[in-house]
Amino acid sequence: MQKGAIRVQTENIFPIIKKFLYSDHEIFLRELISNAVDATRKLKTLAGVGEFKGDLGDLRIEVRLDTEAGTLTISDRGIGMSADEVDKYINQVAFSGAEAFVKQYKGQDEANMIGHFGLGFYSAFMVSSRVELFSKSWQDAPAVRWECDGSPEFVMEETAKTERGTDIVLHINEESREFLESARIRGVLGKFCRFLPVPIYFVDKESKPDDKPVNNTQPAWIKKPSELTPQDYQDFYRELYPFGEPPLFWIHLNVDYPFNLTGILYFPKIKHSYEIQKDRIQLYSNQVFVTDEVKDIVPEFLMLLHGVIDSPDIPLNVSRSYLQGDPNVKKINNHITKKVADKLEEIFKNDRKAFEEKWEHIALFVKYGMITDDKFFEKASKFHLMQEALPGGKTGPFHTLETYRQEAEALQKNKDGKLVVLYTTDPVQQDSYISDAAAKGYKVVKLDTLIDPSFISQMEPKWEDVQFTRVDADITDNLIDKQEKSESVLSQGQENTLKEIFGLQLPDPHIKVELKGLSADAQPVVVTRGEMMRRMKDMAAAGGP
Ligand code: ADP
Ligand code: MG
Repeated sequence: MQKGAIRVQTENIFPIIKKFLYSDHEIFLRELISNAVDATRKLKTLAGVGEFKGDLGDLRIEVRLDTEAGTLTISDRGIGMSADEVDKYINQVAFSGAEAFVKQYKGQDEANMIGHFGLGFYSAFMVSSRVELFSKSWQDAPAVRWECDGSPEFVMEETAKTERGTDIVLHINEESREFLESARIRGVLGKFCRFLPVPIYFVDKESKPDDKPVNNTQPAWIKKPSELTPQDYQDFYRELYPFGEPPLFWIHLNVDYPFNLTGILYFPKIKHSYEIQKDRIQLYSNQVFVTDEVKDIVPEFLMLLHGVIDSPDIPLNVSRSYLQGDPNVKKINNHITKKVADKLEEIFKNDRKAFEEKWEHIALFVKYGMITDDKFFEKASKFHLMQEALPGGKTGPFHTLETYRQEAEALQKNKDGKLVVLYTTDPVQQDSYISDAAAKGYKVVKLDTLIDPSFISQMEPKWEDVQFTRVDADITDNLIDKQEKSESVLSQGQENTLKEIFGLQLPDPHIKVELKGLSADAQPVVVTRGEMMRRMKDMAAAGGP
């Protein structure tokens, strides 16, 4: 038996590791299982190049829970380690890594950094009072047992293990007893290991073993798009979000230059803003779950999409500041934006009907994207749609800015030669104004969703020759072609008196009263307010811009 001190200057590394990782204790399982997956993959690689000639056998990973003994064991049938390798990879390297870790991050509150420094294995001590490691190398070497109780001392000796591979036995500590609960472990496995490439079986000593692995080793995104049917994509969506409504459509990402990226992004059905759920995109690195906080990697406006992105170029343990500074992340972000714009354009061009049917659900993404992303704005201006609002609550055809321009330009230009887009924010309440506008041959479109006020104010500077005017605003003032008033049956004096009476009742001097006579006109009196004044009031009411 060999006894020795773990070579590290820092007196006791564990309190520091524990402190740093406090918020994310469950990560130990991801770390240990990724090591098991790595070990299995390495063996497969060796077999592939002919270096390993033996029988691979069943390369499953097992996670065994023994509540009575208070242990959780992670076993693999991978390459294993000899005593020398344990000494090199577990005793030494990890601790030098730990030192760098401590130096660099002392005093910072940055969790989730372990694997970065080759400390993954040591995350076991977050939840264990004692860790045992049994390993037998694929090469001809005696099996080894290693044990450590979280102090800088370890014990290493030969052991009788006959099967190739590694078992890590965690003696779960008092504070971490939750990890002796079957449901808790299943939960963590479901979160981190769902799509790992090696089958993982969960065995609870107290119940009948599962006959199926907890993971799907062949998730849709790693396959070629040509191998997948629409049903396969739908099924995979269901696997990701069992309770979600079927998605509208999807984009299969597959890039290998200048960075590696695969994934599937789904457009969910969103009608109401309360249905929006951000953080529904999961980030993987070689099928290992990393995070569902995809900020920076996915453009802000596409955070509403669902799905999976997998890139080995995004390191497993990433910190926020790291992501922001990473050149690949910026490139990935741009690529995704372009792919999404291309896909939308493709549907718009090839299947206009489907596009219009889905518009209600995608409008939010498109508008948000046009507001926040200049590149997307350029592309999306071609397929952004506005639906015509007709009198009586009816809806008319959809217009792009271009077709609206063609049809409305003749009548709807302002003094500066800009196209005036007339819109309604409430087709029911503003119906009489819509009727009025329709009677004059104007085209009114619906811009009645929550995002539209910002959309309108952001598009005006971008669509340089466009001015938006709400249908109940003082339209005629904005148009060159002033409509002549209909004949009034009132005398000028009567009109002035009436205007005065109305004026006294109105709270706002910017509201304008127009008397249109009591002839055949359905609107004897029209009360309007300047567009800009109204917008300012609306903004103030909404709590400022
Ligand atoms: P990292 O995985 O980042 O290298 P870890 O602390 O997780 O850091 O592991 C350190 C090293 O220990 C690994 O690189 C590997 O060489 C070895 N190792 C850990 N677990 C296993 C295992 N289950 N089978 C074989 N080798 C392992
Ligand atoms: Mg590791």
